[in-house]
Amino acid sequence: MKSNSDIRVCKNKECQKILPPDYKHKYCEACRNKHAQMTKNVFKGIGVGAAGVASIAVMIVTGGRFKK
Ligand SMILES: [Zn+2]
Repeated sequence: MKSNSDIRVCKNKECQKILPPDYKHKYCEACRNKHAQMTKNVFKGIGVGAAGVASIAVMIVTGGRFKK
């Protein structure tokens, strides 16, 4: 018996748009675009943050190891 479970909706809880059966993605087109933008921004933020943290970590490690 075919049930409603065959109907897939956008994974975005605030969207829940019904996706076409042959749609390959978990999010609808609009959410994917939004998500892509957000991911880009997040990566940018993480990238800058990680670089800062990494350089501080390197300074601490090298400072601790090589300072006598
Ligand atoms: Zn959506």
